[in-house]
Amino acid sequence: MRYISTRGGDRDRSFEDVLLAGLAPDGGLYVPEHWPVLSPDDWRSLRNRDWSEVAVAVMRPFMGDFLPEAALGQLIAEAAGTFNHAAVTPLKQLDDSLWLLELFHGPTLAFKDVAMQILARLMDIALERRGEKVTIIGATSGDTGSAAIEAFRHSRHVEIFILHPHGRVSEVQRRQMTTVHSPNVHNIAIEGDFDDCQALVKAMFNDQPFRTRMRLAGVNSINWARILAQVIYYATAALSLGAPHRPVAFTVPTGNFGDIFAGYVAWKLGLPIEKLVIATNVNDILHRALTTGRYEVTGVTPTTSPSMDIQVSSNFERLLFDALNRNPAAVRALMDSLAQARAFTIPEEALAEMNTLFASGRADEEEVLEEIRRTWRETGEIVDPHTAVGLHVARSHLGPDHAMISLATAHPAKFPDAVERAIGQRPALPQRLAHILTDEERLAVLPNDLERVEAFIAERVTG
Ligand SMILES: *Cc1c(COP(=O)(O)O)cnc(C)c1O
Repeated sequence: MRYISTRGGDRDRSFEDVLLAGLAPDGGLYVPEHWPVLSPDDWRSLRNRDWSEVAVAVMRPFMGDFLPEAALGQLIAEAAGTFNHAAVTPLKQLDDSLWLLELFHGPTLAFKDVAMQILARLMDIALERRGEKVTIIGATSGDTGSAAIEAFRHSRHVEIFILHPHGRVSEVQRRQMTTVHSPNVHNIAIEGDFDDCQALVKAMFNDQPFRTRMRLAGVNSINWARILAQVIYYATAALSLGAPHRPVAFTVPTGNFGDIFAGYVAWKLGLPIEKLVIATNVNDILHRALTTGRYEVTGVTPTTSPSMDIQVSSNFERLLFDALNRNPAAVRALMDSLAQARAFTIPEEALAEMNTLFASGRADEEEVLEEIRRTWRETGEIVDPHTAVGLHVARSHLGPDHAMISLATAHPAKFPDAVERAIGQRPALPQRLAHILTDEERLAVLPNDLERVEAFIAERVTG
């Protein structure tokens, strides 16, 4: 399997290349040169197999000869072993046609653990082979940073630096990062806000000499291997509800379009998915794009589901590429318009093509709280605000001929304030995380100053 860039400037890359590169040099995103397909018989043979076996079957067609089957199986079993549930990503039935796919049983209680635990292990193998070390730099407002730190804390080939806005992440989120004491893990609290952190990371990647000297690498949601690893739970969930004989639909709380694009990949791979429903909070650029054809950037409104408070959805470019008949010039034209005018219009045919599989909806803050209350009252389940966005939207896309699976992307204990506002009680932190509340924290507080941050990192990377 070879990979190409959505903007046409790079091609013939291996899985290992795109795993380590993240963004393509022309600014585009890597996609497979063609979509592999598993036959209905292949899918049937995966029923009643365990999580890791399904994972190997869906990931292998995209990985060329990167790893022999047995080694990949072992790697995935190890990643799955960091989850605190025998089914790894269990399904819970809420009513006749609505199911919750719980993706939050990993070490940091959010769905990003699934892909990050696998990505870290794949990267270690690639780096070991190449005899290379890299420096991962990321900015976080919450979930991504802790998932990355947990995943890379044992890596011998990676130094990881995570920037967060000083005093502006919740105590649990901060402590999930700062109580990890591995020598390769570095937490930097920036005296500024999340945008300042992101701007610093971007500036470091744009500083060519620094980037080369530090061997910077990114693990953000545009990394292809992260998306690929998320295909797994679409497959396990659909299979356990009767695929390939019974069609299913998924509703996905969406920010950067990474998670739901993995659902699209599963569909391309031949999994019978009837609908993929995009669920957004009031930051609804995707919902507006799918309903009006106009993809238009507005400001970000902070909500109780912060991991979906985004201005643009980077991975949407991958879907556009396919909907535009894989024409890189057409993608470039839309992306130029986005850069210059902060908006573009999706050509009519492409929009119609997307709307054959995708649907969308949004939930405002009142609807999120009401959904948390309703789910608790009717089923006894406590859901987090991101999950509630999904459930609220899922309810208007139920149908008689498919099971609806709504993705539960975070554990409610990560967002206790919103949950308390909705139902008057605070969900408890799971026992396995209790230690972070008392463990010693390790972090450096730095000013919002590129030179100072680069100097801090360089000192630790080059000794
Ligand atoms: C990251 C995140 C999302 C959004 O996922 P995307 O892949 O960016 O669409 C939703 N919920 C939670 C809890 C997250 O951490």
